[in-house]
Amino acid sequence: MSTDQFGIAARPAESIRSVLAEAQRSLQVVGIEEAALEAVWLLEHVLHVSPLMQRVQAERPVSAVDYANVQELVARRANREPLQYLLGTQEFCGREFRVSSAVLIPRPESALLVQETIRRCRQNPVAMVVDVGTGSGCLAVSVASALPDGRVLAIDISADALAVAQANMEQHGLGARIECVQGDLLTPLAQRGWASQVDVIVSNPPYIADLDLVTLQPEVRCFEPRLALAGGPDGMDVHRRLLQQAPVYLKSKGVLLMEVGLGQAASVCREAEKSGWFRTYDVLRDEGGIDRVVCFEKQEERSKPLIVN
Ligand code: GLN
Repeated sequence: MSTDQFGIAARPAESIRSVLAEAQRSLQVVGIEEAALEAVWLLEHVLHVSPLMQRVQAERPVSAVDYANVQELVARRANREPLQYLLGTQEFCGREFRVSSAVLIPRPESALLVQETIRRCRQNPVAMVVDVGTGSGCLAVSVASALPDGRVLAIDISADALAVAQANMEQHGLGARIECVQGDLLTPLAQRGWASQVDVIVSNPPYIADLDLVTLQPEVRCFEPRLALAGGPDGMDVHRRLLQQAPVYLKSKGVLLMEVGLGQAASVCREAEKSGWFRTYDVLRDEGGIDRVVCFEKQEERSKPLIVN
């Protein structure tokens, strides 16, 4: 074995195989379920070597710098930081979206919001759509790319989130077509004089009840933005505020589509109907069988609110 000037044995050069095995072990011992797969993806991210080539070139040496970078990412993942924040991307509706800890990681079930928005706009290609709490911009981008003549406004209260959304819009060639505005829910529409102008308001609001936040898996609880998760005592604070604000800006027969959490759909529908402004025209189930998206249509005339004891 060769030794350096101090007579210390040089560490044998790391190979893809050894780095991969070590990464996999480190993830496995902390209970990461897909340790083997995640190790391959982290290596791919650092080395720019595809999973297939990692097998073909398993004996290829890994430089000290790359080795240190892999180790750093593995340590962060072992600390439960979401893989998506480490890799910087998440796929949604067939597109890659950049993500950082400033935004919620897009979830597959939110595609229901996109599908329903597009379905409602089929007869009206120039529809005006507002995405409230755009986060990564995944809903706004997916909708705008399906509606080339539509107008899409994306709102978020967080400037850091809007920077990520803007980058995603540009990356998908929609920077000029989607307007990004910072503000609290629909308040930016007031200055624009958009009363009764909007066809679809779509939103995936925060909907975790305050007391449930501690029960979330560490990836979510410790790393995703609280602003994107916490929905007040019963998780429906933001839904209520949107139900109040939306009638001002929606056209008659315009729609409000909101994602809801487990067990919330019935209460949100009740509140919507009670307001007298909305008719529930659908509740969409996700693949897990959970009522996930509530669909409200603004009534032509406000019906007398039902008095429910
Ligand atoms: N609109 C984004 C999404 O659906 C962000 C939602 C949020 O931050 N609550 O992923």
